[in-house]
Amino acid sequence: MYEEELNEVKQKCLSCKKCPLSETRTTVVFSGGIPNSKLMLIGEAPGYWEDQKGEPFVGKAGQLLDKIFASVGLSRQKDVYICNTIKCRPPENRNPLPEEKDACREFLDAQIRILHPKIILLAGSVAVQSILGDIGGITRIRGKWFDGEAYGLPDTKIMPIFHPSYLLRNDSREKGSPKWLMWQDIQEIRKAYDNL
Ligand code: SF4
Repeated sequence: MYEEELNEVKQKCLSCKKCPLSETRTTVVFSGGIPNSKLMLIGEAPGYWEDQKGEPFVGKAGQLLDKIFASVGLSRQKDVYICNTIKCRPPENRNPLPEEKDACREFLDAQIRILHPKIILLAGSVAVQSILGDIGGITRIRGKWFDGEAYGLPDTKIMPIFHPSYLLRNDSREKGSPKWLMWQDIQEIRKAYDNL
């Protein structure tokens, strides 16, 4: 009964005051998409619109993420579970502090443990660092599969990808550009998803 267990974690998270971000947040952003998915995307932290609406990836970066998924026939309504490394917005969208990530880790760990996704996508360096540690810059490791077994996640394939907000700042679609690479990566992800 993963729904019950997940809901218990969510209720605990919604009233969490374990770190100072609880004082500046508008809402707690626990997750989006569908829980019974084989595909989980982990981003960094809620931004302005996410904090307002209580949903991850709903601003411009979220719209781009939806387009990226749609380009290979995937959608958050039927294929993907979405969450962030921390659940409350850091002021001015700064990167989460180590102590905030540590405080919030129990919720991310619970989401992964309960849902046990077959594929985890790590969008951006904060998410990569949280799950895979310091393994190099996102430009070098994006698009590569990592075996979850080595990170305590058996039967899970993990791929770092560019964060959509990085793609918004790098608009070129030329061969080799971040957007072009993202489109290669999402096709690879679709293939792996089809083979599950
Ligand atoms: S960021 Fe995480 S640990 Fe901090 S208050 Fe929000 S839910 Fe709790």
